[in-house]
Amino acid sequence: MAYTVLARKYRSQTFDDVVGQDPIAQTLKNAIKTGRVAHAYLFTGTRGVGKTTMARILAKSLNCLAADAPTIQPCCKCESCVAINAGDDIDVIEIDGASNRGIDNIRELRQNVIYRPARCRFKIYIIDEVHMLTTESFNALLKTLEEPPSHVKFIFATTEPNKVILTIQSRCQRFDFNNITAPKIAGQLKSILKQEKIKYEEDLVLPLAKMANGSMRDALSLLDRLISTGTEPLSASLLEEFLGCPNSEKIWNLIAEIGSSNAAGTLAAVEDLISGGVSEVQIVDSLIEYMRDLMVAKSAGAETELLVLTAQQRKRAGELAEKFDVAALIYNITALEKLRWTIKNSDTARALLEASLLRFALSEHFLNVDQLLSQLQASPAGTIKKKEPMDERFILRSSPPQVRAATENGRGTMDDRRVTKGEHQASPVRRSFSEDGSIENQEKPQTTNSEHRESSIENLVSAEQAGAGQEKAEPVASEQKQAQPAPNRLKTSSQRKNELINHPAVKTVLMGLDATICGVEEDK
Ligand SMILES: [Zn+2]
Repeated sequence: MAYTVLARKYRSQTFDDVVGQDPIAQTLKNAIKTGRVAHAYLFTGTRGVGKTTMARILAKSLNCLAADAPTIQPCCKCESCVAINAGDDIDVIEIDGASNRGIDNIRELRQNVIYRPARCRFKIYIIDEVHMLTTESFNALLKTLEEPPSHVKFIFATTEPNKVILTIQSRCQRFDFNNITAPKIAGQLKSILKQEKIKYEEDLVLPLAKMANGSMRDALSLLDRLISTGTEPLSASLLEEFLGCPNSEKIWNLIAEIGSSNAAGTLAAVEDLISGGVSEVQIVDSLIEYMRDLMVAKSAGAETELLVLTAQQRKRAGELAEKFDVAALIYNITALEKLRWTIKNSDTARALLEASLLRFALSEHFLNVDQLLSQLQASPAGTIKKKEPMDERFILRSSPPQVRAATENGRGTMDDRRVTKGEHQASPVRRSFSEDGSIENQEKPQTTNSEHRESSIENLVSAEQAGAGQEKAEPVASEQKQAQPAPNRLKTSSQRKNELINHPAVKTVLMGLDATICGVEEDK
């Protein structure tokens, strides 16, 4: 006997069987019970959510020969029900809108509409992918839809309702089919595996259901393909192997290394994945998905229903979430999304991936903008307004030629920028502006990165405010001072704000922060 794919073999037969579309099934049942069945329906929703299935159930309910009138419990055994199930009933005509989209097809339909059904109560037209019809066809159909014979019902199905003209939509009762939730798909998969007597591991079902993205048909096709491998029991690792997905254990390990700020471990985990044949884009995709789970676990607790995870994965997510704060996870996810687009068109995908992941892992070495902002807002020098969250421009901005990283452990970051010019290294705390606008800072090297950066901007601002009284080592800076005849205290605050903003050194720092000065307080 020929093999019937699971999606067909286990297609729902009655309103009560339908998975994940209970409100629609209930409404249609009520319509049948009260004799208020509309003459045209429009079923919308993504593929594999049960539109055609629901259309056939409705057709069977209207036409079942075992009942004297439309019924909510079609027998599924009579000639009519069997033929409708197979899609070749004489009175229930299924038309594929994509291949019958022309005006001639619709004219033919209109001519046939007038004839009464051959053996059942109604002549039912199920037009799939109705949005594919041409404009002329829609217009021709409109005429029939306006005043259809009482023995005719139309059921249109579409994945793109926006392409169905409004005059058609307004003549139909519309039902929007939801994507089916992963737990509901998982429940159906379990029931089918049980009926098919196929052994499987418990951790297979939920990840498989999740991969189907709300489509029961996709879930069943995936299951079909897994079964065809002939391996039993079916398991999550088989699924990953079969689809070429990154191994979930390895992704969890990578995230754990990032969370532990282990640079070497992060690189090793990437190597482990890539040597296993996983592409950089796949790693990024998986990381986004897993980081999202951590973000949800961190924000709503690991037990939340928002997470579609097995018990073991849930526990793991809860533990790993402890290693991150929500802000870091949000940043990581958005940065990964940008990275995904970048590496798709890059010949150096791996280097970009590794750089980004190290950035996550070593995040405490990068300046926390919020901390800096709160400090600056509290300081009398001025207030700084954040334009948008820190992004990769923050770290990728090219540095002045003489800049080098200066932390002692060798993991220096752009926050450690300093200019190394021999003649300015005498005083340990002296700061001044160099010609190219970069900050010269000779502070003690053990200062942490963020402290260093916060103090540099504070000092920049206060040094600028202090005015001409202070001797400057830099010739350019001195010239600028001489060019300013009036002492600072006589200027208005907006003048001083402008001066501050336009100063090359302040500009450089503000650009690095992606921030601007929004006000300067007067001296008390
Ligand atoms: Zn029947």
